[in-house]
Amino acid sequence: MNASSPSSKGDQDAFDVERIRGDFPLLARTVHGKPLIYLDSANTSQKPAAVIDSVDRFYRHTNANVARAVHALGEEATSAYEATRDKLARFINAPSRDEVIFTSGTTQAINLVAYSYALPRLQPGDTILVTQMEHHANIVPWQLVCERSGATLKVAPINEAGELIVDPFVELLTPDVKLAAVTHVSNVLGTINPISALSRECRKRGIPLLVDGSQAAPHLRIDVRALGCDFYALTGHKLFGPTGTGMLWAKREHLNAMPPFFGGGEMIREVKFEGTTFADIPHKFEAGTPNIAGFVGLGAALDYVNGIGLEKLAGHEQALLSHATESMSNVPGLRIIGEAVEKVPVISFLIEGAHAHDLATLLDHEGVAVRSGHHCAHPLMQFYGVAATLRASLAFYNTHEEIDAFLAALERVRKLLA
Ligand code: PLP
Repeated sequence: MNASSPSSKGDQDAFDVERIRGDFPLLARTVHGKPLIYLDSANTSQKPAAVIDSVDRFYRHTNANVARAVHALGEEATSAYEATRDKLARFINAPSRDEVIFTSGTTQAINLVAYSYALPRLQPGDTILVTQMEHHANIVPWQLVCERSGATLKVAPINEAGELIVDPFVELLTPDVKLAAVTHVSNVLGTINPISALSRECRKRGIPLLVDGSQAAPHLRIDVRALGCDFYALTGHKLFGPTGTGMLWAKREHLNAMPPFFGGGEMIREVKFEGTTFADIPHKFEAGTPNIAGFVGLGAALDYVNGIGLEKLAGHEQALLSHATESMSNVPGLRIIGEAVEKVPVISFLIEGAHAHDLATLLDHEGVAVRSGHHCAHPLMQFYGVAATLRASLAFYNTHEEIDAFLAALERVRKLLA
């Protein structure tokens, strides 16, 4: 789709992206004297005023610890904080709010499953199946529990376009596999993986499936019942909420069978020196004082996204993706890494003869924020035989004009480095 084509303009009119941008204060700033073009949302998203205000309001009017005090502030803080559990449960269509465990992010959520669910079940000869495109957060925790238990990792391959194909994945689902851990969407390639098909195959063989939803939640409607997985992890800061917030959803039977991961206040029923009994889920996994204001902010982020409508956001993003992909394909020497048919607006690329970090630094001086590096995905970089890529990752607050300005800036810096 071309920037000036009626369909892309029509998309912008219908979506009113300028009104949306007005909700994100940071997008109005300049960088190095140029208007900011923020293309690093897969790293962390910008926050709407509704989120910033809700955190501010919490500290100004409600601040108290949760679940500890009977006074008015304590009750108000608890209900504001717990409301986010209901919102998250609805957001992912979880069967029950009790199955939503608050975590500091995806990393903590995956570690919780690795140590509390997987480690007690792993023996020498067992395997954990991951894929070539995982973020380190969905590799390293499994390696650590493998080291402790004598189990090993197996890796499902991807094709050159960056797609995970169901058949080779299924061939690896042998009886030694005790858990499969797959990203819903690749943070480098933008690929959307066929989770329902993978989980059907895992279920047939009684293999639990963990899905890393970090990059899916900001773009796709998540329905854990339809996906059919066992565990789903996501992180709040990529979902327009505050940092230090996230979630593990898991089937009740797994959560009930898992021992606590962290011990401390709030996760107990009764503590005696002879032994301790634990609270029911979800609190069994939530020791200590949490990021209360952060979760209140995450609730505001979910309200904000729901208020616009995920389908509407996704439609605009897909138009941006087509526009950016087509324009970038016309840049001499530019190679896009990740050409899956099903993608979110995340575009990794290289420019012949120019180092990714140099390009990112020069683009920054043009006001354009893109990420350069390995994107916490060393094995994926090794698959493509590169040390680093540039990554332009978009959100619904980006515009077609920004894509054109990014391409113009890229052309200028490319010439400087030629
Ligand atoms: N998984 C994927 C696919 C990611 O992109 C990220 C963050 O970049 C993570 C996991 C880790 O998320 P967090 O650092 O918020 O725990």
